[in-house]
Amino acid sequence: MAVHAKMQAMVLDSPGMPLCLREIPLPVPGLNQILLQVHACGVCRTDLHIADGDLPNPKLPLILGHEIVGTVLAVGSQVTKFHPGDRVGVPWLGHTCGRCRYCLKGRENLCDYPGFTGYTRDGGFAEYTVADEKYTFPLPGSSSPIHAAPLLCAGLIGYRSYRMIGEDVEHLGIYGFGAAAHITTQVALYHGQKVYAFTAPGDLAAQKFALSLGAVWAGDSTSQPPALLDAAIIFAPVGSLIPAALAATAKGGVVVCGGIHMSLIPSFSYDILWGERVVRSVANLTRQDGEEFLALAPKVLIKTEVQPFPLEDANRALDLLRQGQIQGAAVLNIS
Ligand SMILES: [Zn+2]
Ligand SMILES: [Zn+2]
Repeated sequence: MAVHAKMQAMVLDSPGMPLCLREIPLPVPGLNQILLQVHACGVCRTDLHIADGDLPNPKLPLILGHEIVGTVLAVGSQVTKFHPGDRVGVPWLGHTCGRCRYCLKGRENLCDYPGFTGYTRDGGFAEYTVADEKYTFPLPGSSSPIHAAPLLCAGLIGYRSYRMIGEDVEHLGIYGFGAAAHITTQVALYHGQKVYAFTAPGDLAAQKFALSLGAVWAGDSTSQPPALLDAAIIFAPVGSLIPAALAATAKGGVVVCGGIHMSLIPSFSYDILWGERVVRSVANLTRQDGEEFLALAPKVLIKTEVQPFPLEDANRALDLLRQGQIQGAAVLNIS
């Protein structure tokens, strides 16, 4: 496979500015890195938060994108896990220090000195990228790149959030029915649970989509579900959903916040938290999350609903995501 010396990339020069299509030199893999031809890269709400300046201190200029499906073209001299021609997936967690107290306790998602794909290092909104082999997952060569891409963040963070809801959950509420929710719903149904989908008020298209995937009920986030929830996962970046979800959740239930950023949480009465209800966040992923989820995905027969865009339309994909007009997941279909 010929490697061109230059590549097309969508570059963020400064938060708040649209991405710019630019021809730049191909990245060179370091000793432990692989060079990938990017086939597809998902567009995640976190990309939107970085582009909008909600998350501090991104690498600049930056290539966004942390749901990368590609083929290995070249490997650094110390790479042992991958070979040219391998199909791989690159997630959000791009590096950990291996030495901080979190890494040493197997909680590398909380590493004090992490590297994140498409945030503190360049990601996949480009024809080529490099990734550290240790944080890259093998994918089946037969997988469809645009359909596999959303598994690498929406799927993974959804799975980590899902793991946090605890045991004995029959009624699971999901707030915000986008990319992560549509995958997590399939995982919950596989485990025999009932899913209640909460959308932005009046978003009938998202409610219809949730019901088509097998949710037993779908409605506005301001409404009460027909049954008390045993647990809830909030994927929408809306702080007022925390008291809303607590009010809909039974005693002892967990409300898991899966997003990386949220608007301010309004104050609320202690009685909706009382009864040993728990509110918790989920941050990043561990490599073990990735391995577990990518092994589970074929058993669940997860089908991702994707809206593909060419690389140069990344700004349009981000705008539609911002406006809540993406059904399922937006994906850049690159090569
Ligand atoms: Zn660490
Ligand atoms: Zn993401």
